[in-house]
Amino acid sequence: MADPILAALFISATTYLALLFVIDRRRDVLDIREGASRFLTIAAAVSLAWTAVQLLARLRALNLISWMDPLSLQWVSHYSLLPLALLFLRLTGIFERRKINLTAWTTAGAVLLTAAVLLHELPPRPAEEHFRSQFAFMLLAGGWAVSSTSALVITLLGARGRASPLHRNRSYYWISALLLVTAGQALCWFSQPILSSLFHAAGFVMGCYTQLTHYLPDLRATARRGAGIIIISILTIVIYTAGYAAFQSIEQQAPGISPLLGGAVLAVLMVLLVNPVLSLMQRFLHRLFNRSRYDPNQMLSEYSLSISNILNLEYLAMIVVGIIGQAMDITHGALVIVHHEPSSTGNPGGGSFSLRMISESGQYIGVGRLKDNSPVAYALRREHQPLTQYDIDLLSRFKAMDEDERAFLNSLDIDVYVPIYSGDAWIGLLALGPKKTQERYYKEDLSLLQTLADQTAIALENARLYEDLKQRNTENEILNAELKQANRELERLDEAKSDFITIASHELRTPLTQVIGYNDILGEMVKTGQLNPRDGKRMIESVHKAARRLEEIVETMFDMSKIESRTLDLSCVPVPLASVVNNSIETWKTGINERKQVVTVHGMAHLPAVTCDGKRMTQVFSNLIQNAIKSTPDGGHIRITGRLVEPHDGVPDLNEECVEVTIEDNGIGIAEEDLERIFQKFYRGGSVLLHSSGDTKFKGAGPGLGLTIARGIVEAHGGRIWAESSGFDENLRPGATFHVILPVRRRPVETPVRLADGQR
Ligand code: ADP
Repeated sequence: MADPILAALFISATTYLALLFVIDRRRDVLDIREGASRFLTIAAAVSLAWTAVQLLARLRALNLISWMDPLSLQWVSHYSLLPLALLFLRLTGIFERRKINLTAWTTAGAVLLTAAVLLHELPPRPAEEHFRSQFAFMLLAGGWAVSSTSALVITLLGARGRASPLHRNRSYYWISALLLVTAGQALCWFSQPILSSLFHAAGFVMGCYTQLTHYLPDLRATARRGAGIIIISILTIVIYTAGYAAFQSIEQQAPGISPLLGGAVLAVLMVLLVNPVLSLMQRFLHRLFNRSRYDPNQMLSEYSLSISNILNLEYLAMIVVGIIGQAMDITHGALVIVHHEPSSTGNPGGGSFSLRMISESGQYIGVGRLKDNSPVAYALRREHQPLTQYDIDLLSRFKAMDEDERAFLNSLDIDVYVPIYSGDAWIGLLALGPKKTQERYYKEDLSLLQTLADQTAIALENARLYEDLKQRNTENEILNAELKQANRELERLDEAKSDFITIASHELRTPLTQVIGYNDILGEMVKTGQLNPRDGKRMIESVHKAARRLEEIVETMFDMSKIESRTLDLSCVPVPLASVVNNSIETWKTGINERKQVVTVHGMAHLPAVTCDGKRMTQVFSNLIQNAIKSTPDGGHIRITGRLVEPHDGVPDLNEECVEVTIEDNGIGIAEEDLERIFQKFYRGGSVLLHSSGDTKFKGAGPGLGLTIARGIVEAHGGRIWAESSGFDENLRPGATFHVILPVRRRPVETPVRLADGQR
């Protein structure tokens, strides 16, 4: 009679042999990562050896062979369990993509195994109940238990942390395989060879199936279907048993009734009852187990009706993702607009696809990029079918994917990408997150989604064209506005040119007329002998003054041309700004006194020296003070303040230590639109002809170059200058403030100049 243990061991051994063959055949067909196939092969070989040892032990026990000690054989089979557990731990690591320190585990395992072998095998060989044997057994069993538990815990934690149902399903398979294998190995410790070998072989088959198969059937759905079949079967048995019992009791209570008639009536009743009850039950179970309930036909017609005529991309996204999301009960989704951007260098593979994502609430939620040569872009562009994140994670053809792209896709928490095409061009995507029911996207779902995506193509293309058109319109509007601005600027330049001619002639004519006039008078007086020394001196002085004015104007224009041609020479040394300001005020002392104005200086004395060209800086402040004098009526107040500013003091774009000087007056002020313009060449507020040229007269004007030159000099020092005013008003006199910021750029100050703050 055949021995059941031998039969079980023989079946297991054949299974491992077959698995070795299958693993070898499927090595390249499916995704076998990081040596999974290698470790599966080793595990199958060790399992085969382990089973062979048990086979020999059984043959020996049955006295079919006489060589070898049965006890030693049993120990050898125990020794195999620790390496087997370690191999499954490593396979778990590969499965979970977790870094497991293989060297540490292997070393620990090898130490335990060697210790156990030495303890048990070293002569004199101890009896089974001897402490050495028991200790060896404990070492082996302990190491095995830790490795097996670790593998189970790692897989359980991995399954818990996964949102994607496909990944979770895969984990369930691996957990089932591990449980079976571990149970098989555990039973070996308790010398249960039949169950042990069968469980282990079954677990191994399941493990190989899990590692080698990409699309695993839904374990939970299969379990639910199984439960449904069992419930329906039990119900059917209950109904028929009840029918039979009813028939018997009728027969007993009314013996006169012909059993044939009774049987026939009962049969009719059963036929009438059983089918409706069972189909009701089936419907109930179907609804209980299949939580995603939508009618594809109804969804298709509702979908195409809703998206026709939508021209707005945001609205299209809301409708598209909204309908699908509601029907399939998904957590989130997005409509993705795909644009191909060719490489700037013209390299055919160097371009990329930009992915603009619009959420179900119509918001733009981000932009991603896939390179032309990205395997994901290739699949979406070419394959005309949905691509799942599960595929991207596991299939070997996506393994070479760019890490940035992988991180981008992972960050989206999307389960399935459904491509949308216009002709052959890939123009969009439906990106759908996990279902709320935590179920996977079934084949039917995916094919419906592809149909929906195909229906979306026309609407998406129209909306994209419409958006392009809108974009072009906006760009045109911007261009028009820029053109208008440029025109205005040209007009202003034209005006400035005529102003220049007017100003130049106006400014030059007065001193020239004076020079010529006095010259004529002098000549006349010399001719008639009327020239007395006092009149002569007065006239010579007037001619000199007029000539000086001419010289000043020419110099100003010369400075302007130097600034424009960037040939302004600066000789920079550390200069205390207090003395610069002081000298500038000195220049206009007569005018200030005549106009009864008050100039006060604050906070200048303790400022650090600024490395600058002192003469040029005096020119800047002199101009600013002169402008303040001219813009302020008699009796006005000009306040000059200095302070040190550091990068963190709130002044924008400041990255070094600077000194800020402000010149504030209570004069007529500056209109907001002129605040920048006054720094332009030849710009003077109001009509050019209304101005009178004069050094310090109220509202007196020069050639309109002072501020332009001041800005040129300040910027040449790496500084900034700007004006602030709440407006222009000759009656209210809001005043104006000019700010000058200059970098300190410290260097040792050779001759410090001390200046008391306060009124001058
Ligand atoms: P100008 O040679 O006319 O002084 P600027 O370039 O120095 O030329 O000044 C240009 C114009 O800026 C002046 O004509 C005046 O209208 C205006 N402006 C300058 N400083 C002030 C100020 N402190 N208050 C009001 N307006 C001012």
